[in-house]
Parts: sequence; structure tokens; C-alpha cells
Amino acid sequence: MTPEHLQKQLGLSLPSPLQRFTPDWPGAEKVTLWIKRDDLIHPIISGNKWRKLSQLLADHAATTPHIVSFGGGFSNHLHALGWCCKQLGIEFTALVRGNYADSPTPMLTDLSRWQANIRYLTKLAYKQRDEPDFIAALCEQYPGALIIPEGGSQQAALAGVQTLLEECQITIDKIITPVASGATMAGLINGAGINARASARQQVLGIAVLNGVGYLENLVAQFLPTNSSHDWQILHQFHHGGYARTSPALLTLCEEMRQEYGIPVEPVYSGKVFYALKSLLAQSAFAAGEQIVIVHTGGLQGARTDPDGHS
Ligand SMILES: *Cc1c(COP(=O)(O)O)cnc(C)c1O
Repeated sequence: MTPEHLQKQLGLSLPSPLQRFTPDWPGAEKVTLWIKRDDLIHPIISGNKWRKLSQLLADHAATTPHIVSFGGGFSNHLHALGWCCKQLGIEFTALVRGNYADSPTPMLTDLSRWQANIRYLTKLAYKQRDEPDFIAALCEQYPGALIIPEGGSQQAALAGVQTLLEECQITIDKIITPVASGATMAGLINGAGINARASARQQVLGIAVLNGVGYLENLVAQFLPTNSSHDWQILHQFHHGGYARTSPALLTLCEEMRQEYGIPVEPVYSGKVFYALKSLLAQSAFAAGEQIVIVHTGGLQGARTDPDGHS
């Protein structure tokens, strides 16, 4: 099966819109901003998670009876993958970091509705998720299952991410994306050049959503060919204290994006990217006339809290 067949079967809206963004922010008038609205691909399979899974699912959907993967209690990846498996008639097992048995998140409630098997791992066990011995034990426990790493981040993810650049029919000077496990950024770096100006180099600018100087660069680099000569950089000053940490200023920005510009963002990923964009514009960090594409990676389901107010 090809990714195109699969996206038709799943009812996805692709290509996603590339939308002009003209905020009333100091510095914005000097550049041209675009948002690649991957959040609009599908209400459940949000944003970059489809891009990262498309090739792998297309290769295995017809032959794999069972998929096993990892994530936190709010994971956009488990949510997207769980829904795909349900639609494709594939058994799904979610290995979840921490124990939410007494207060399942909305994400986990959705997975249960889609008949996923949910297994809670202690934080210590979860840390072993990429260890060869741990994976070997899982293979024995779930014979014939396809085991997908956390976030869907594996080498085949890069080709899928690259398709989002192929969809952009404009020249691009800078591409801005959030970075957590790094596969989305690596896919953009690998595809960089597709819509570059002949005269200039394209740069991929990652916004770290967690505290990981050096760590995130290594995650991205592990997916790239060693001779990759593309221009990329990760900015580390916009994570607001770490993964899923927020600040009043960040929450205000998320609200502004929704109310003023009609673009829903959540504070874990895309909110931090637009916060960074606003700051960088104010600092005149971009050359005049640059064409800048911001990748809206979606993730709005992860911002839901349960009716009892647990988060
Ligand atoms: C998972 C996720 C990311 C991070 O992507 P990586 O490839 O792990 O760096 C960014 N945005 C959203 C909305 C996500 O769900």
C-alpha cells in the first residue's frame, strides 16, 4: 500500500493548507510569514504524527496484525496511532509511562473506546524503552507485532515529514518547527532545499520544547546522514522551564493566537513556537524580506483535561 492509498482510506485532508499569517506584532511587517496547517489534516490524527507514521503504516498495514508503541498519558502519538489501528483493524497495545488507572486522561479514555490494550509502565521500566533487551522481551511477549518507538520517531518518519515541504509551492528561507524527539526536525532538514531560493541557503530553526541543550541536537543528528550539510539550529530559550511547563505569558500568547488570529495552539508544542516567533520578530532576528514557514504540528487533543480537573 502507498501512503496516498492509506490517507484516502483514513479520510485525511491533504495537502494541508499553507496560510499567510500577518500578526500585528513588532517586526512582522519586515518578513513574509506562512503557517503550514498540519493541525488541519484530521481532527484526531494531529499534525506531524501522521507525517511520521505514514510510510511505516503504509508498509505494514496489510501484513501486521498487532502494533505496540510507547508514550505518556497525553501522548499525541499514541492517540493518532490508536485511531489508525482501530480504523485499519490492527490490534494496538499502548505502553504508557506512569499509572493512570485511577484517573485516565481523555487521551487514554479515547484509546479504551477504540479497544486498545493499555499497559502502564513504571517510570523506571519506561526508561528502558529503546534498550535492545527490553525490545527483545517485548518481541517475545507480542510475537509478530510491529514495535514503534516513542513519538513514531524512526528512520521512515523522515520521508513522510519531507512531503509537507513538497506541498509548499513557494520559495522558503526559514522553516520553524517544535523539537521534542527530533524526527520532525530531521525530516525537514533532510528535505531542506526543495523550495530554497537558488541564491540562498534554507535554514531549519527548531524550537526546543524541553530543557535539552546538546541532547536535542544529538537526537536530530542521529537521524541525519553524517555528510548532511544543511543549515539548522535549535533555540533553547523558549521551553518555559521544560516539557509541558508553562508560564502566564505563554498561556496569554496561546489565547491571543486563538482569539485574535483564529489559530488554535496548545502550550506544549505549537504555543512555544509562536511565542518564540513573536520574540524573534521583536528582536529583528530575521533578514528583511525573508519567507518564513511555521509548521503547525497540531497536538490540540493533548491539551484536554478530564472532567474532574486532573491534568
Ligand atoms: C510529537 C509532537 C511534536 C514533536 O515532534 P518530534 O518529532 O518528536 O520532535 C511537536 N508538536 C506536536 C503537536 C507533537 O504532538
